[in-house]
Amino acid sequence: MRRLPIFFVLDVSESMAGEPLVQLQAAMESIVEQLRQDPNALETVYISVIAFAGKAGMVVPLVELMSFYPPRLPLGGGTALGEALDELMTRIEVDVKKTTPDRRGDWEPVVYLLTDGRPTDRTEAAIRRWRQQYASRAHLIAVTLGGAADARILKQLTDDVVALGAGGDDDLSRFARWVSASVAAQSQALDMGQSAPGISLAKAEEVGISLVKDGDAAPVDDQVVVFTGRCHRSRKPYLLKYNAISVPGGFGGPAGQGVYGLEGAYPLSETYFEWSAEGGSASTVSSDQLEGVPPCPHCAAATSFAMCRCGRLMCCNGPGVQTCPWCDASIEFGDGGGSRFDIGRGQG
Ligand SMILES: [Zn+2]
Ligand SMILES: [Zn+2]
Repeated sequence: MRRLPIFFVLDVSESMAGEPLVQLQAAMESIVEQLRQDPNALETVYISVIAFAGKAGMVVPLVELMSFYPPRLPLGGGTALGEALDELMTRIEVDVKKTTPDRRGDWEPVVYLLTDGRPTDRTEAAIRRWRQQYASRAHLIAVTLGGAADARILKQLTDDVVALGAGGDDDLSRFARWVSASVAAQSQALDMGQSAPGISLAKAEEVGISLVKDGDAAPVDDQVVVFTGRCHRSRKPYLLKYNAISVPGGFGGPAGQGVYGLEGAYPLSETYFEWSAEGGSASTVSSDQLEGVPPCPHCAAATSFAMCRCGRLMCCNGPGVQTCPWCDASIEFGDGGGSRFDIGRGQG
């Protein structure tokens, strides 16, 4: 039996925190559920999941559809696309059986690479290696989610780039329907001995997914800023996510001077730091630029936006002395006062 390997290479950078990650998780579950209803797919489809944020890694090894369970996706800081491609090429080398004179190997693997942001690592070498050694023996489809993805870089990787919308409810379920329908069509075509690929981008357009013809670079303006803090009681980490607010009348200030409104505060697990790039980002935003301060998502303390002199954020429940969950210093908080300070931001 020749296997049809499907690789999902999924961006789990911090801009995916909250609803987008929930939707992506649901999309993976729905793809598997739909494919399992297809007898051809059940026989041939094998699935692997690679995730990438500041670091890339395999989350699920290539397994048959029946034994595949959608993983709980991690979250991290950064968008290491170059590292994700390196991991993908390693997995293809190791996991996909080549055809030899006395053995028929696997069918050509199909890769769905989904990203919502600009790469934060160097991608040139990995893209060159993909084009030279892998593009002719794997079918890679790049999928952008939202307007901040860099379609120009993805176009260097593959001609097949499609754009989901801004990541609303329906965007990822459309993606799931399209992927499961085209993978099922592909396994059927292979079963009937057809060489015509079932992975057709025309079908993407039929379900309302647009094709990207000429790639645009990601907009310079940052749409999302995120901060990590720790609960002063439980020491557990959390993520604060803010979205750019367009200022009526075209505020037109220099880049990095926009206003950001609170989207949400999300509990994190410690794996966040394992999936994040070291060093973080040098750019900062001022607290003046942020609108909305949420309570702590772990202990419901009044603010999740208190800062230690070590420069890290923690939650705080009114005036008093607290121990910093990052550096163990004792710090006394007054009653706020709204003094302005700069905060190191995540990388998206
Ligand atoms: Zn707390
Ligand atoms: Zn501290």
